[in-house]
Amino acid sequence: MDRIKMINPVVEMDGDEMTRILWQDIKDQLILPFVDLKSLYFDLGLPERDRTDDQVTYDAAEAIKKYGVGVKCATITANTQRKEEYNLKQLLPSPNATLRAALDGTVFRAPIVVNGIDPSVSCWKRPIVIARHAYGDVYTAVEHRVEGPGLAELVFTAEDGTETRKPIFRFEGPGILQAMHNHDASIYSFARACFQYALSEKLELWFATKDTISKIYDHRFKDIFNEVYENEFKEQFEAAGITYFYTLIDDALARIIRSEGGFLLATKNYDGDILSDLISRAFGSLAMMTSVLVSPDGKYEYEAAHGTVTKHYYRYLKGEKTSSNPVATIYAWTGGLRKRGELDNLPDLVKFADDMEAAVIRTISSGIMTGDIAALYDGEATQVTSTEFLAAIRKSYEDNL
Ligand code: NAP
Ligand code: MG
Repeated sequence: MDRIKMINPVVEMDGDEMTRILWQDIKDQLILPFVDLKSLYFDLGLPERDRTDDQVTYDAAEAIKKYGVGVKCATITANTQRKEEYNLKQLLPSPNATLRAALDGTVFRAPIVVNGIDPSVSCWKRPIVIARHAYGDVYTAVEHRVEGPGLAELVFTAEDGTETRKPIFRFEGPGILQAMHNHDASIYSFARACFQYALSEKLELWFATKDTISKIYDHRFKDIFNEVYENEFKEQFEAAGITYFYTLIDDALARIIRSEGGFLLATKNYDGDILSDLISRAFGSLAMMTSVLVSPDGKYEYEAAHGTVTKHYYRYLKGEKTSSNPVATIYAWTGGLRKRGELDNLPDLVKFADDMEAAVIRTISSGIMTGDIAALYDGEATQVTSTEFLAAIRKSYEDNL
């Protein structure tokens, strides 16, 4: 059988621990037998990041900017415990944070829905996708511990030296302070990425903040979304038969719980952080959640939403067979290859990605699955190891050819 040819490469970023093992198995079992893979390989595993003082991460980010499509394995974010475990020179920042900053992106997280694994919320029939603004707010805030009485003020010094001061609070005793920011350019990018994604997936778009309380900060987000919609996307949305609406974050959550799903909810950084874990768990497992970082100029980075599954890796090192779920990592590969196929006009590559995802869904629907979802499955489930699961997916794909 001829393998599917590619024109441009995908940027391949290897990772750590159990997901690094799965990464290689997925390539060997599900990709390389069928695709004449063109990839630019960057080893983002912790030892190589440490050895290169993180240069490899910056190089990978530049390569995504150049080639437009990346696929990433989960990676360890170093902490003091990892420093000892891996005998590291330093504590480097999270690769995901570095890539997000480089691509100025928005992260979209969508659950993979399978019959028999019912959402905890019984009225949800279709996926709920979360878009998270990946810049600023509390993640880049400056904090201060107030030790005793005094006046806190917000001071802005313009380039020409003009100062604007606003009193924050007159402390009578000890307390805490926090200052956060965002900037218009990043919010415009966020808004455009959301409208673009909703359009390409034909999903209704909801955007929610707390502008009634935050009359300048959150209100700016609301105004920018509105402006971008009216000026750039309204006609395209109407033509596609989808709608955009803004509502308060508390109202949005109250509506979600009674909805049927099937929409994109855009949120600020913190709201998206906490909501994406909640939504993914309610749909099943972290390993059944896709994640893609989209930059305003149309660069894409696909990954799984979960981490390196450390506990399973330690069991694997002891020689035990693990039942770690490779689905989100497979979807990172199929997502990246599908996008590459769309950009390079390669229908066979697009079809490969569609067919491989269909094989994953068929395999699970036939009752063969890993432990994390077997526990949730409404029916007779056969729990298999990761290796057996990948073999079953390959067989289902080949049987369908
Ligand atoms: P994790 O790797 O997501 O795993 C947490 C738990 O979730 C696992 O112990 C496992 O539960 C379950 N789980 C997650 N993925 C699974 C899968 N594919 N199959 C089956 N079960 C799965 O999170 P963590 O243990 O908090 O973090 C481990 C490392 O990952 C850390 O070093 C962290 O820095 C890194 N991390 C990386 C990323 C990323 O690169 N995107 C994201 C998050 C965390 P059971 O043990 O109950 O089976
Ligand atoms: Mg989180």
